[in-house]
Amino acid sequence: MADQAPVCATCGTTAPDPSLATITWTRGTENGRDTWTCDRCSRDHLRSIEGKLDSTWW
Ligand SMILES: [Zn+2]
Repeated sequence: MADQAPVCATCGTTAPDPSLATITWTRGTENGRDTWTCDRCSRDHLRSIEGKLDSTWW
């Protein structure tokens, strides 16, 4: 696996520290691809994520 900085699928920010992002960011799978949500967006959208895995909000 390449050490590629994750990009938040919600706000588009790039993880400043990939190794840290793998811990604090939320990883999901969308159409067979890894998608990332930063810690801030994870918090903001926690209800949406927990409620149902639906991509309509992004
Ligand atoms: Zn974000």
